[in-house]
Formats: sequence, structure tokens, C-alpha cells
Amino acid sequence: MSFATVYLVGAGPGDAGLLTLRAKELLESADCVVYDYLASSACMRFAHPKAEQIFVGKKGFSAHVTQDEINACLLEVAARYEGGSVVRLKGGDPYVFGRGGEEALVLHEAGVPFEVVPGVTAAVAACAYAGIPVTHRGVASSVALVTGHETPDKDAPVIDWDHLAQGVDTLCFYMGIRDLPHIVERLMAGGRSGETPVALVRWGTTAEQETLTATLETVVAAVEEANFQAPAIIVVGEVVGLRDSLTWFENRPLFGKRFVVTRTREQASSLVGALESLGADVVEFPTIEVVPRTLTDDIAIKLGALSTYDWVVFTSANGVKASFELLDQAGADARSFASCKIAGIGPATTKELAAHGLRADLVPDRYIAESVAEALIAAGVGQESKVCILRASAARDVLPELLEQAGAAVDVVHVYDTLAPKESEQAAQVVQLLRDKAVDAVTFSASSTVRNFFSLLEGQLEEGESVPALMEGVAALSIGTITSNTIEQLGLTVAAEADPFTIPGLVEAAQTYFA
Ligand code: SAH
Repeated sequence: MSFATVYLVGAGPGDAGLLTLRAKELLESADCVVYDYLASSACMRFAHPKAEQIFVGKKGFSAHVTQDEINACLLEVAARYEGGSVVRLKGGDPYVFGRGGEEALVLHEAGVPFEVVPGVTAAVAACAYAGIPVTHRGVASSVALVTGHETPDKDAPVIDWDHLAQGVDTLCFYMGIRDLPHIVERLMAGGRSGETPVALVRWGTTAEQETLTATLETVVAAVEEANFQAPAIIVVGEVVGLRDSLTWFENRPLFGKRFVVTRTREQASSLVGALESLGADVVEFPTIEVVPRTLTDDIAIKLGALSTYDWVVFTSANGVKASFELLDQAGADARSFASCKIAGIGPATTKELAAHGLRADLVPDRYIAESVAEALIAAGVGQESKVCILRASAARDVLPELLEQAGAAVDVVHVYDTLAPKESEQAAQVVQLLRDKAVDAVTFSASSTVRNFFSLLEGQLEEGESVPALMEGVAALSIGTITSNTIEQLGLTVAAEADPFTIPGLVEAAQTYFA
């Protein structure tokens, strides 16, 4: 009988950036991924969309799925995906308190080929992200990884507490919160001083990381008072003192802030990436769907006449993309613009133009329609000028109006539509976060994102709730004046506005606001 190869893969401690290249590569190509709750969803985004995903969530001590069931599941998928590949994704490192060794033995006994991909284990990573080196010259020359949850099983080796207490400098306990009083008692009874520094790092390396510091003597009371919950690493030793100088992760400007980002799914990534790298926890809430138009006779005629215009104006990167898709459908290409000058509203638009081999002749100082009109007029657009604007169907009329007032003949071609997504899985989640006061800021990058944010949330509200009431205490961050006006018209206050009106400007505004 032949099987799939089963890869026991370490998912690292939570931050998807700590996944190994090998892990990412295997995830991307696996036919099936079997994962549990510590192998965070952040890593699952690398799994192939067509891969079967099996959640065998084990949480703390209350196993929803038993280890025997997981073992049986691995054998079943290994047989079913004969010749393919199965990733068994486990938090941290598969062989550090992950029962990976047991799973490997089961595979070995059944003759299933397997490989192991080590991962960054929680103790090392959580300590590093909390500003604690697990070893340090002159302070700690040994470190132990210890289970804080001794199995009552009489066959399991018991911890040699006395040697541990005195013989190892840094002690890292996994799964130890529930038995913390026992751990402290055994270490002190074994001769470790009550003054030894202790830190607990919860959800290390993620946006929810929390660190508590105390001493062996005070830690039990401190944990109780803070109601500090699993999953956490408990680290005992003098190295904890280095945290005072070496904290970095928790010091980042937006650490501990939760942002809701309203954009199209494709556009969100640069904003999300920038906010996350400043430490924010980002919830993506797609509120616009960009739907490119398909080629009609009417559009084909207008695109066919591009060479008759003096200026072609693009007011968004999406407009550029959609225009090129339409040109392609019409059997044409960038040469259609050969005889016209090109204006782009801002850097994202000119970047998209550049991706299609076009250089913008004009970009205004301020990235709004009024400024595009002003700049065009300053560049000589007036009587006898012919201008074509390639843009979304729902857009303000100010640009064509101002140009017409200046005497130009203006044609507007709708190359795409912006729609509110019909369904939104995220709306209910966002409403719940707002109810729980668990959101610090919402970013709006266009007026339509504001309107759609309202309409999507309104679909989820209960009697007596309103969006402005839910948004109380939440910073509304706006990309520019037009978006700000819409925010205020709908009854919210703008906390900060981007300057310039770009995504980097918006990130900057967020950072200044929370400074
Ligand atoms: N194989 C994993 C450990 C699994 S045991 C590894 O190598 O990291 C589960 C325990 O790991 C939790 O109870 C907790 O003590 C610890 N843990 C896992 N992820 C963690 C994180 N992000 N922050 C702090 N502790 C974590």
C-alpha cells in the first residue's frame, strides 16, 4: 500500500513571519493540511486554496479531539492522498511538547513516509519578543525547556525539581499557568531564591502579546490579580532583568492597537502591511468590490478614438488597470495613448501607469479631483482642448465640470464600477468587536468605503444600536478631505486626516494620532 508523505511542520509561535521557508513551501503545495489552534490562522493563509484543511483543535487541557483521533486522522489522509503530500502543522516546533514524536512513531509503524520541519519554539520566540535573551554571557549559560503540566501518568518521567532549581540558569515552562503555584513551590523548595525574576509572556510574537514580570515570591499573586491566561511561557531566571533594556516589540508605535481597514481586498495589503509593521493588530473589512466593465461597442468606440484627445486622465490605479483590460479585450495596447498627454491623480495611479509602460505627464500637488482640474488648466487645458477621463461610474462630477467651465470638451468613460460587497462575512465580526470596545481605529480610503461601512454594519445591528454610537471612542482615520466630509456627513468625527492624501500619508496620520 502506498501513502502520501506526511510532513510534521513547525508553524512557529504565531507571527507568520517566523515560519520557515521550507514550511511555507510545503504549505503552498500540500494536498491536505491538518492543523490545531496554536498553528495560527496567520500561517494557514499560505495553504493552497484547494487543499483540504482539517482542524484538530486542541486547546489547553480540554482536548476537543483526542491524540488517538489525530493519529487515526493522519493515517486516513496519508492513505487517501496516496502519492501526494500532507502537512501536519503544529505550533512552535513539532518535537517540543507538541506530541510530534508520538505522531511520527505512529506514521513509522504504519509505514507512512514522513519528514520533520523544525519550527521556532514558543519559549525562545516569546522571550525574544519580550526583550529576554534566554542565554546571556555572564548571566545565563544554560536554559531548560520544561513542561509545566506534569502528566499524572505513572510511566512518564517526573521532573527532577531539585536539580532543575539549582542546576540550570534559565527555566522556560510551557503549559504552566494552571500549575504555577506548584512550579513556584517546587523551585523554592529546591533552593531557588524567592527574589529570582520571573516573566510570563502570553500570545508571544502576536499583536496580542502581553508580558507580566514579577519574582518567584510574588508571581502567583500577580498572575491571579492580572487574571493572566494561557497560552503563555513562564520564564524564570536573571535574564528576565534584561527586559528593561531590551524590550522592542511592545514598544512599536501602534502596538496593542486594533485597526479595522476598509478597502477592497486587493488594495488592502499595502496598508495592512504598513500598519502591522508598526505593531497594530489589523482586521481587514473589505467594503468595496471593484468590478471592471466588459467591452461594449460604446466603450470600444471611445477607446478607439483615444488618439483624438489632447489629455487622458486617470483618477485611480483601478482605472488604469480596468482601462488596460478593456484595451486588451479590444485588441489594442498602450500605443492607443501614443499621441495624448497623460494625467494621473497621485502616486498609486502613476505607479500603475508605470507598470504598463506609461509615464504620467502631470500629477497635481494634492491628490484630489479639484487639484487635477487646476493643474490641467495651468498646463493649458481650455478652449479647443479635448480631454478623456477614464474612471469609475460612481465618482464626483467636479473634474469634468471644472474642465468644461474652462472651455474643454470632456468625455467620461466608465471603465469600472465600485459596488458594496453583497455579502460580508466580516460585518458581524466587526460589529461584535465594536460592541466589545475592542477596536481603536477604522481607516477609510474613499467616500464609498465610508458609505459601505455604514450600510454593511447597519445590516447587523440590533434594535437601539447605531453605527455612530458603536464608533464612540474609535478613531476614524481619513485619506483626504472628500472622504472626511463623507465621514462627518454620516455623523462621525474625523480623528486624523492623511497628508498627503495617500496610503503612506494615512499610515503617518495614524502614527501621529496614537503617538
Ligand atoms: N510545540 C510548541 C509547544 C506546544 S505546548 C512549541 O514548540 O512552541 C503549548 C504551550 O506552548 C502553551 O501552553 C504555551 O505555554 C506555549 N505557547 C505556544 N505558543 C505560544 C505563544 N505564542 N506565546 C506564549 N506561549 C506559547
